[in-house]
Amino acid sequence: MSSNFSLNLTYTTLSLRRDNMSRRPAEWLTERLAEGVGVVPVLGSQNLITTGDTPGAFIFEGDAARDILGTGVQEVLLGTDDHKPVFAVSVDEAMAAQIVASTDGAAEFMDLRSVGPLLPPADAHILAHARGMAYWHARHGFCGVCGAATESRYSGHERKCINPDCGISHFPRTDPAIIVLVYRTDVPGGACLLGRHARWPFGMYSTLAGFVEPGETLEQAVSREVFEEAGIETTNVQYLASQPWPFPSSLMLGFHAEATSFDISIDDEELSDCQWFTRDDLRGMKEWLDAKEDDMRLPRKDSISRWLIQRWFDAE
Ligand SMILES: [Zn+2]
Repeated sequence: MSSNFSLNLTYTTLSLRRDNMSRRPAEWLTERLAEGVGVVPVLGSQNLITTGDTPGAFIFEGDAARDILGTGVQEVLLGTDDHKPVFAVSVDEAMAAQIVASTDGAAEFMDLRSVGPLLPPADAHILAHARGMAYWHARHGFCGVCGAATESRYSGHERKCINPDCGISHFPRTDPAIIVLVYRTDVPGGACLLGRHARWPFGMYSTLAGFVEPGETLEQAVSREVFEEAGIETTNVQYLASQPWPFPSSLMLGFHAEATSFDISIDDEELSDCQWFTRDDLRGMKEWLDAKEDDMRLPRKDSISRWLIQRWFDAE
C-alpha cells in the first residue's frame, strides 16, 4: 500500500444535471428531445462498456439514440447533459444483441463492478445511476401493499399501483448502510480493524459494514455493527463521506470510529476472521488486481472501504 492513492471516490462525480427530473412537464421533454438525446442501455445488471484500451460508458446519441428510445422494457430520464436529456434504457436479450452488433465490436455489456475503478469518473457515475434505477424498476413491477401491477410514471421516477382502490405511489429507494474503519491509538503507530468474509477471495480484508436498521441513528448503527461482528466497543464515531453503491442498491455512509476495547470476538456467521492491522501490515498487502492467490490484499480501489483505510493510513 502506498500513499499516492487518489482520494476521489468512484461513482460520486456528478456528471448530469439531475434536478427536478421527476417534475418536468411533457412539453419540457419534447422541446429538449428536439435538440438531442443520449441513451445509456442496460441489460439486467449489466452496462454497455467500450471495449478499447480504456473502458468507458458507451452512450448512443443522435439517430442511433432515437432508434433505441421507445424500444426498451423500461426507460428512466437520468438527467440532462448541456440541456440534452440522457435516458437509461433497459433492454431484453434480443435488443441487447442488436445494440452490441450496431457498435461493430466497440462495446459490450458487462458488469460495472468488473471495470468500475478503470472508468472515467463521470462515466462511472452515469452507469452506476443507470444500473441502480434499472434494478429498482425490475423489482417493483408489483405493488408491495396490494399486489397489483405498477406502472412507470414521470420518466421512470415513480411507479404507481394500477389498482384504483390502492393507487399508491412507489419511489426509487436506496438502502443506507454504514461502513466503518475502527482504529486504536493505544499501541505505537496505531492499528486498524479489518475483517473478512469466508466467501471473499483469499487474503482479502476490509472495513466492517452493515445495514442501518429502522429506529437507530447512523452512529448507533456503527457501534452496533462493530460490536456484533467483532465484539469491539467504540467511541468518537465520525462521519467522513458517502458513496452510492448500486450493487445492488445501497448508499454507503463512511465513518471512522475509535476502539475502546481491543479483544476481538468474531461473530462467525458474519466474519471468518478479523484482526488489528498496523500501517506496516498494510504496506505488505497487495492491490486487488496485482494480488496472487496467497497474497493478503486490500479492498478494491473503487470502494469506500479502501478510501476509509487509505485516509487512516495517510493520517499518520
Ligand atoms: Zn397497490
